[in-house]
Amino acid sequence: MNLLETSIEYLKGVGPKRGQLLKKELGLSNYSDLLHFFPFRYVDRSHFHKINGLISATTEVQIVGTLGVIKEQGAGPKKRLTAQFSDETGSVELIWFKGVKWVKDSLKIGSTYVLYGKPSVYQNRFNFPHPELELLNDFKANPINGLQPVYPSTERLSNQGLNGKAIGKLLKNLLPQLQNTLQEYLPDYLIKKYRLKGCREAYNQVHFPANIEELEKAQRRLKFDEFLFLQFELLQQKQLHRETIKGFAFKNLGSYFNDFYKQVLPFTLTGAQQRVLKEIRKDLRQGIHMNRLVQGDVGSGKTIVALMAMLMALDNNFQACLMAPTEILANQHFSSLKELTQPLGVEIALLTGSTKSAERRKIHEQLENGTLKILIGTHALIEDKVKFKNLGLAVVDEQHKFGVAQRASLWKKNSLPPHILVMTATPIPRTLAMSVYGHLDISVIDELPPGRKEIETHHRYDSSRLQVFGFMKQQIELGRQVYVVYPLIEESEKMDYKDLMDGYESIERAFPKPNCQISIVHGRMTAEAKEIEMQRFVKGQTQIMVATTVIEVGVNVPNASIMVIESSERFGLSQLHQLRGRVGRGAEQSYCILMSSYKLSANAKTRLKTMVETNDGFKISEVDMKLRGPGDLMGTRQSGDLNLKLASLVLDGAILEQARLCVQKILNNDPQLALMPHQPLKRKLQEKLADKTQWGKIS
Ligand code: ADP
Ligand code: MG
Repeated sequence: MNLLETSIEYLKGVGPKRGQLLKKELGLSNYSDLLHFFPFRYVDRSHFHKINGLISATTEVQIVGTLGVIKEQGAGPKKRLTAQFSDETGSVELIWFKGVKWVKDSLKIGSTYVLYGKPSVYQNRFNFPHPELELLNDFKANPINGLQPVYPSTERLSNQGLNGKAIGKLLKNLLPQLQNTLQEYLPDYLIKKYRLKGCREAYNQVHFPANIEELEKAQRRLKFDEFLFLQFELLQQKQLHRETIKGFAFKNLGSYFNDFYKQVLPFTLTGAQQRVLKEIRKDLRQGIHMNRLVQGDVGSGKTIVALMAMLMALDNNFQACLMAPTEILANQHFSSLKELTQPLGVEIALLTGSTKSAERRKIHEQLENGTLKILIGTHALIEDKVKFKNLGLAVVDEQHKFGVAQRASLWKKNSLPPHILVMTATPIPRTLAMSVYGHLDISVIDELPPGRKEIETHHRYDSSRLQVFGFMKQQIELGRQVYVVYPLIEESEKMDYKDLMDGYESIERAFPKPNCQISIVHGRMTAEAKEIEMQRFVKGQTQIMVATTVIEVGVNVPNASIMVIESSERFGLSQLHQLRGRVGRGAEQSYCILMSSYKLSANAKTRLKTMVETNDGFKISEVDMKLRGPGDLMGTRQSGDLNLKLASLVLDGAILEQARLCVQKILNNDPQLALMPHQPLKRKLQEKLADKTQWGKIS
């Protein structure tokens, strides 16, 4: 058995009871877990402070000084112990509230100690509650060189004598035993090429670093390895997918595609759209199974690309479907795709939760006998009752709103799985795309259709609402339309509805009929009522659309030129960017106005500032990830599966790029890892990946 798999209870200083507790509290059950339990910070014990040099009450300091008078004060639970502690520059008070008797007995008045602790301020003077004290002579005999690791612990563990410091001692016991086990698994040529520290050294130094430089080198090696293992998993999966999963070969481009391209397509495709279509075409003709993600900013024209891919399927006698995350969006897609495909005579239908049962039955029937060619819908599409004659391509719009399982069920609609094209709502940061979607092929539409004017974005405080109304009036007089969006958060639903209705009323007063008509759309309305209100706005019968975020995704009204976002400080960046993308779709200059109160957190300030400064969704997604962290950004458990302990998708992008390139090179040269120098790595990977489920197999 591998020594690393030894149960933690056998480690000196643990035993069965604490072993159980370590497992329960920190998830540490064997030696390997403990080895990978890294310090969360390090303190510098090579530096000493003087008492008159204390300036901040926030970090730990180390002082050499003499212990003076000790006093016991108070009685009962209020009993405490104080002591004077002085160096040549001044003196401070030390205080203990617990263990008074034990502390008093163990301290030697008049001796010189090394004090270590965090100063706090009381009545304008520094004092040290519960400092660590070590006799200077003992300290000299057994000095702590360089950085001291600080490990996290829990209250229950601390009560059993396993505070952070004691966990450090466990690692001191563990590491010497593992020196033989920690053999290098990366081949020499990679260690040299990427200038990596040896793996044993890296583990030793990350727990007990000699100095900052050594620590950073150790961390870089371990981060590299984390990314390396992740990329092996993803890229091997991708390779396996290519090799083993067959897909329908769409050999021909026929009249659907060609007629559309020549006669219907209302504009010239952008260079980026053409490139992405070529990438899709290449996948589809080969007889491999396509599993592709299309990334593009709001308004970059993903829908037309999806439609043209669907026409490729139709030309080869297959059906296609498009799944959208909301009913409004599905409706919208349906009406625009219906219009675009009408000249071609394509049978197309819409299936959502509100499709009437007679219509539903007809759709089911036509799907099965193959007369229906394209089905648009919400997740109603993936119900078991929905059966296709021969589904060749499934497009999933606004990717991240669907769970992995939901998408997986699309696969089961056929003998061979349909080709899968997933489209993101807004760009995903590159590091996240490489990790969470690293097993997919990725296409990027990084160009907007020509003639788009940058949307002007302004931040206004609530006190300027009258001016904002004035501006809206001007634009409405010019014939434009306006969105006013209110936040709706589940926890504060009641208040939010009140805000929405109050806002609606004040807009009604400021924009009286008959000159101005107002639509309102929110989640408490039936799908039917929502659709009617939407349509009034789409047709230009209403000038103002007051809504909650139900209009966040996909809604397309080119004549709308102002997006007013109320309480914008309560929205996340990607949501703000999505909402802003609802305007700027026509020829007119468009505006986004972010309303907020004066009270803004630092984080909210950054969000609003970023929105005002840039329209670039790729840049915005990077800022968003920095603010929220990668896990939150995905909104799914996927990023939790990345198993990154040291490496960060926010900070370590460069290391990730290197690791991914490295894995690509290895797999290109030696796909089975059969060569001699790759044997230790192969064994390591087998150990690592043995018990991982293949969650990512499906788009
Ligand atoms: P998104 O990528 O956000 O889904 P859409 O596909 O909804 O964007 O496209 C936004 C708008 O741009 C639509 O009105 C669409 O018709 C238009 N559009 C797409 N591609 C082009 C192009 N190459 N030239 C001009 N307009 C385009
Ligand atoms: Mg879209």
